[in-house]
Amino acid sequence: MKKVVLITGGGRGIGAATARLLASRGYAVCINYRQRADSAAEVVAAIEAAGGEALALQADVSDETQVISLFDETERRLGPVTHLVNNAGALSTQSRLADIDLERFNRVMAANATSCFLCCREAARRMSAGGAIVNLSSVAAQLGAPFEYVDYAAAKGAVNSLTKGLAKELAAEGIRVNAVSPGLIYTDIHADGGEPGRVDRLGPTLPMQRGGTAEEVANAIAWLLSDEASYVTGTILDVAGGR
Ligand code: NAP
Repeated sequence: MKKVVLITGGGRGIGAATARLLASRGYAVCINYRQRADSAAEVVAAIEAAGGEALALQADVSDETQVISLFDETERRLGPVTHLVNNAGALSTQSRLADIDLERFNRVMAANATSCFLCCREAARRMSAGGAIVNLSSVAAQLGAPFEYVDYAAAKGAVNSLTKGLAKELAAEGIRVNAVSPGLIYTDIHADGGEPGRVDRLGPTLPMQRGGTAEEVANAIAWLLSDEASYVTGTILDVAGGR
């Protein structure tokens, strides 16, 4: 069966590393992006130059109508979606909970939790046996991210619960659902939080004494999607250097 993977937010960071890795392993890859068409197009070009199959599709995956269209268009262009990586996520400026307004809270929940729900639901309706889903959580869900982004931590807590519940619902249908929980990874997301050098500052305090790379997270995602993880479902795998 042709392996078709949809990667939300696949144009940069962890999503882009995952797209390149999965394409090298024979998946046809749909790279979803929200704003940065140029980054997504670069990933597609790199995959095609290496002999792989990829396309980029714009959609805000916190919007129900756009998610349904994204799945429809991926199916039309590449074939049925057999694998899904719910990677899209976002955070806001470091702040105490007392200073977080409702508009921001709802925006962060939509980017991280609603998007995961909508794409999981679409996959659950469409996937058949052999399918697999990996959701991007964060160790923030366990740590709470005090004085930084408790809203983001709460949204990732919701991702963990969605993962556990859907895994149990779909296990008998032969569809596996897992999550990867990164720690401090070198990507642009920290600049969005207002501290581009956050990984350099905190990396040395970790048991492994360094931040991680997007490629190290992509390796874990690829393993969970693969048949090598055939007896693994409902698992939340930390990729966090011992954090
Ligand atoms: P990143 O470099 O900031 O990339 C985020 C991606 O998500 C971008 O491609 C962005 O698209 C996309 N995106 C955001 N909102 C979207 C929406 N509504 N619809 C569609 N796409 C959307 O972040 P990253 O570090 O690679 O993060 C990837 C995932 O890992 C996220 O879920 C994040 O929470 C999680 N994570 C990261 C770390 C870390 O240290 N980096 C740690 C724990 C968890 P555009 O480029 O088009 O804007």
